[in-house]
Amino acid sequence: MTETIPHYPQPVTDADNRPFLDGWRRGQLYLQHCRGCGKAVFYPRSLCPHCWSTDLEWRQASGRGTVVSYSRIYRPNHPAFNDEVPIVLAEIRLAEGAALLARILRGDVESGMEVMLMASAEAAERFPLPVFQPA
Ligand SMILES: [Zn+2]
Repeated sequence: MTETIPHYPQPVTDADNRPFLDGWRRGQLYLQHCRGCGKAVFYPRSLCPHCWSTDLEWRQASGRGTVVSYSRIYRPNHPAFNDEVPIVLAEIRLAEGAALLARILRGDVESGMEVMLMASAEAAERFPLPVFQPA
């Protein structure tokens, strides 16, 4: 049996987020790190939000993090998600210190639980942005 892959809305690639999106296409999570203050930065941008330095470098992240909070979405704002409700969208505090919003697939979710990137070619091919699962 074949599954129809939804046509998800796609992120717009620009000079700031290209390493992040290219990394995810390989199933990897990349974060910017500031050489000025040493902090991890997310979302991708040209200026550190902590110290305003423009000296940012890209590093592969561990893919591990903790759920800060989450929502179960029953009425998605794009029809590509209609067959997948409820969708869990979580704020995840990454081990590197930055936080991001991402879907969590599989299993029960609760605040404080450990999650990890679904670092697979299949996940990267299907989902346009990084997705996570319980660790
Ligand atoms: Zn900084």
